[in-house]
Amino acid sequence: MGTRVIWIASGCIECFWCQQLATDVFVHGQRGTEIRGAIRLDHQTSSNSTDRSPIDVSVLPNEESNFLQFVADGCPTKVIRLEGDWPAVGVADPF
Ligand code: SF4
Repeated sequence: MGTRVIWIASGCIECFWCQQLATDVFVHGQRGTEIRGAIRLDHQTSSNSTDRSPIDVSVLPNEESNFLQFVADGCPTKVIRLEGDWPAVGVADPF
């Protein structure tokens, strides 16, 4: 499995969708929705928009990794960004 990165772009409206569905990944932090350090290789909790730290695949189970595409598709402002070797599935993808 290759590198996987998840980060939050500007424009989050704090609807808590992602935080409620994937509690191991998203958290309400000091600067809005952030990616938990516990699942990142750099162990920093932030939006990960500048650091772009890969997730630690030994910590985040595959089932939850795959689920994150669904979570990103459901974000009302589409600010959850997945980069790298993510599975090409998503409920909002018509193709
Ligand atoms: S689903 Fe999107 S808009 Fe809602 S809290 Fe998460 S990142 Fe913010």
